Amino acid sequence: MEGKIMPFPEFNAASPNHATLPVHERRGVCFHHTVMPFGETLAFMARPESRVSYHVVIAADGARARLVADEHVAWHAGESVFHGREGCNAFLLGVSFAGDTRLAPLTEAQVASALEWLAPRWEELSWSLHWMTDHRQIAPSRKDDLAPAEWARLRAAIAGRFGTGYSAAEAQGGVVSQAAQLASSAATTVEPTRCAASSAGSMP
Ligand SMILES: [Zn+2]
Repeated sequence: MEGKIMPFPEFNAASPNHATLPVHERRGVCFHHTVMPFGETLAFMARPESRVSYHVVIAADGARARLVADEHVAWHAGESVFHGREGCNAFLLGVSFAGDTRLAPLTEAQVASALEWLAPRWEELSWSLHWMTDHRQIAPSRKDDLAPAEWARLRAAIAGRFGTGYSAAEAQGGVVSQAAQLASSAATTVEPTRCAASSAGSMP
């Protein structure tokens, strides 16, 4: 049974903190970490007054809580820019790992569960590595999730499982621009901030 992996459990933990229209564009994914414990995160995001939610939160054991349907715009990124475009909530799904990657690495189960969640979407929506990012990179002056080493590890795991999926145009220009973006965000002085998604600019 080597290589045979049981699916991770996924359950609903609905959050009201999303917009149903316009329909989410689902171009790719912004990864986060919660800082708060798993259960506390779900409770916080279930409250309308918090005004924040991810689409999915992945516990240390790989179990996934679904907070907002993919088709709806969850308020997770706040003020953000990716590939020159503002307002990432409209086109990037928000997937968050319970914990704080600046204090402890992602568990193997979290990485495997993220790949399992990605698999059907990667194929259906023709995703590529070009459209995978994290909160730190799209809001570099405000946010520090994920830790750079854990982002590199997750990105390598995604590439290892799915390939880059780059289109010809992305292979020519996109990789270079992403490398430049990484370099510039590394050069920025980042104030450590809790993730807990991002209320600023997240209103519909
Ligand atoms: Zn975040």
